[in-house]
Amino acid sequence: MGRTDVLIVGGGLVGCATAFHLARAGLSVLVAEAGDVNAVASGQNAGSLHFQMERRFLEQGDAVMAQAARVIRLNRRAIDEWRGLEALLGTPLGVAMNGGLMVAETPEQVDLLDRKARLEEAAGMATRLIDGGQARDRAPYLGPQVAAALWAPDEGHADPKKVTPAFAAAAVHEGARIVSHSPVRGLRKVAGGFEAQCGALHVRADRVVIAAGAWIATIGAMLNLHLPVFPLGLTMNVTERCAPFIPHLVQHVGRRLSMKQAGAGNVLIGGGWPSRLAQRADGTGFDLSRPPAPIAGSIAGNLAAATDIVPRVAGLNLVRTWTGTVAVSSDQLPVVGEVPRMRGVYVAGGGSAFTLGPTFARLLADTIVEGRDAGDLADFSPARYEHLNSFMG
Ligand SMILES: Cc1cc2nc3c(=O)[nH]c(=O)nc-3n(C[C@H](O)[C@H](O)[C@H](O)COP(=O)(O)OP(=O)(O)OC[C@H]3O[C@@H](n4cnc5c(N)ncnc54)[C@H](O)[C@@H]3O)c2cc1C
Repeated sequence: MGRTDVLIVGGGLVGCATAFHLARAGLSVLVAEAGDVNAVASGQNAGSLHFQMERRFLEQGDAVMAQAARVIRLNRRAIDEWRGLEALLGTPLGVAMNGGLMVAETPEQVDLLDRKARLEEAAGMATRLIDGGQARDRAPYLGPQVAAALWAPDEGHADPKKVTPAFAAAAVHEGARIVSHSPVRGLRKVAGGFEAQCGALHVRADRVVIAAGAWIATIGAMLNLHLPVFPLGLTMNVTERCAPFIPHLVQHVGRRLSMKQAGAGNVLIGGGWPSRLAQRADGTGFDLSRPPAPIAGSIAGNLAAATDIVPRVAGLNLVRTWTGTVAVSSDQLPVVGEVPRMRGVYVAGGGSAFTLGPTFARLLADTIVEGRDAGDLADFSPARYEHLNSFMG
C-alpha cells in the first residue's frame, strides 16, 4: 500500500494548483484523476477572469446579492494571484488583464449596476459606473443600446488549455505525483487517516482534499458526508478568428452574456446559458460521464445577446458550440475548507473556480500546512453544512 501526506481527488485546476502549493511546502502529495488532467470544466471553460460581482448573484434578490458580496474578498486576492501567475509558474498562460465592462441597456439595469457598484466599493473592489458614451469611448465596439457600464480595471481572461497543465507540471516538479485514469473508489476513514483505491493504487493518506468539481458530492458520499454541490450544464460558442477588436472582458448585468477575444482572434461567447445534463440509462439521475447536450434556444439566445451588445460579431461565422458541466453549491458560494465533522477532509470548489481556483488552492494549502485558516475562508467553510452532516452518523 502506498502512503501520502495528502491525497487530492481530482486533477482539474483546483486539484493541480493545491498539489503545487502543498508539494512546494514539503508535503508528499498524490493527485488521483479519474480521466485526464484538465479534461473537464478546467479545460472547457470560457477563461474569463471576472472580479466584479457576477450576474448570477444579482438575479435572486438583494439578500443573495449582499451575501455574494463576501466573494469579493476572494476576488481581490485573485487579482494579485493572476497578476503573478505566469511568473510563478514560469510559462505563458495567455493572461490578459485589460479590464472588463459589465453593460446595462435599460434604466432598471443601470440602477442594478449602481447598487452593485456600491456593494463592491464597500467591499474594497474598484469598479466605476460610466455612461453609454463613456463606455463606447473606452470600447468603440459596443452597440448604441448600451446605456451604462461598470468598469473593472483588472478583469480579463486566460487560456484554460494552459493554466491547469502548467500547475500540474509545476506540482510534479515540486515532487507531487499525479496519476491519470485512476478514479478514486472506496474512500474511507480509518484510524489516523484515510484509505482509498485510486485505479490500480491502494493508498493511505493522512489527509484528503476533495477537488472533484461536479463530483464533489459523490466523493463526499464515499465518506458519508453531505456536500451539497450540484452539477449544472453550460453552453459556450466561439466565432471564427478576426483581427483584434475586443481587448476587454464584456459581461451584461441583465442578460446572460460574457464575451472576450482570445489571443488567436476567436471571439468566445458564453455567460451562463444552459445545456442539458445527460441522464443515466436506468433513470436514476444525471450521468456526468457524458457531456451535456446543447440546447438550440441557448445558442440562439446567447448569440442574440452578443450581436445586440457587440454588433460586429453578427458578421462573424460561428465555428463551434460546446457544453460543459460546472459545480455550484446550494447557496452559490464557494466551498473551501476543512469539514468539521471529519477532520482531515478538505473540500475546494464551486462556482467560478477558473477565476478563483488558484486562490482557493493557495488558501487551502496554507490552511493545511499551518493547521488553521488564515481568516479569509471562514465564509466559505463546509461548516455551513453541519446541520446536514450531524445526521450522517
Ligand atoms: C462551459 C463553462 C464555462 C465556464 N466559464 C468560466 C469562466 O469563464 N470563468 C470562471 O472563473 N469559471 C468558469 N467556469 C467554471 C470553471 O471552469 C470551474 O469552476 C473550474 O474549472 C472547476 O475546477 P475544478 O478543479 O474544481 O473542477 P474540474 O475541472 O471539474 O476538475 C475536477 C476533476 O475531478 C475528477 N474526478 C471526478 N471524480 C473523480 C474520482 N472519483 N476520482 C478521481 N478524480 C475524479 C474529474 O475527472 C475532474 O478532472 C466555466 C465552466 C464551464 C463548464
